[in-house]
Amino acid sequence: MSQSLAYFRGQIVPIEQANVNVMTHALHYGTAVFEGIRGNWSESEGKMFVFRMREHYVRLLQGCKMLMMDIGKTADELCAITENLINECGYKQDLYIRPLAYKSEELVANLKLQDLSSDFTLIMVPFGAYLDSDGALNCCTSSWRRVDDTIIPPRVKISGHYVNSILAKTEATLAGFDEAIMLTPDGFVSEGSGENLFMVNDGTLIIPPVSDNNLTGITRDSAVTIAKDELGMDVLERRIRRSELYFADEVFLTGTAAHIQAVGRLDNRDISDGKSGKYTSQINEIYQKAIRGENPKYRGWCTEISVA
Ligand code: PMP
Repeated sequence: MSQSLAYFRGQIVPIEQANVNVMTHALHYGTAVFEGIRGNWSESEGKMFVFRMREHYVRLLQGCKMLMMDIGKTADELCAITENLINECGYKQDLYIRPLAYKSEELVANLKLQDLSSDFTLIMVPFGAYLDSDGALNCCTSSWRRVDDTIIPPRVKISGHYVNSILAKTEATLAGFDEAIMLTPDGFVSEGSGENLFMVNDGTLIIPPVSDNNLTGITRDSAVTIAKDELGMDVLERRIRRSELYFADEVFLTGTAAHIQAVGRLDNRDISDGKSGKYTSQINEIYQKAIRGENPKYRGWCTEISVA
């Protein structure tokens, strides 16, 4: 039997008891850092495979450093807390795992990071597909520019800067698109609202540099590894112009929640034939096996948990 539990203030409690006070700093100012991790249930092995968990916690701790938050835990300790909560919850289905480090001080009208208490909490929910599309995504270029590193560093998952992604995603979906692609303040392609972006031309994978205000994506790193090692592709990191995307052979998005999803249309123009391209499909096929522990070569990316 499964139950909805949280790790909260150092203990495992029923989710209804994991509540913060309205004075909490993070609630007012977005002074928090989060992660999105997937636990992938393997029916055949009867185990949970958590994908690249340690890398997610290393990124979380980088975000904590940015926000001067000492949560008093190492990446390995955070992994152990997560494994324990997965066991206690007992879900035997795909999960979205959400760690959150936040400024827990119950104090408003304070715009400093120093001298404020911090805490760490963790929840997990059953989770299926994130981007609801039966094929390639229909995207638009957002009128909202991606938050710049000189404003709030987007390379880590700081809660406050997600207002930027949320404005973009809201605008896109209300206009009937699946997802938004954001540009940097100087007009280069940055990323999706919750995904990194790839372009394929003549068998070369082209990605914007992290300095173009995108997150240091773990799925991006996995897709690059698969493209190089399995498909022998060249990978080029360089700035990308918006108009290049219209004429690309393939464009796709990557993210923990989104997995690897082709972009079939952008700004009402088909990209190639509007369907998932061959490289996108091949990378996705290998990735889908890797995240469920089905590819021995990439089994090291997964933490296996035998849920009781
Ligand atoms: N960019 C943004 C803005 C995101 O929120 C995410 C999701 N974490 C990504 C990219 C993809 O990152 P990852 O592959 O590490 O999930």
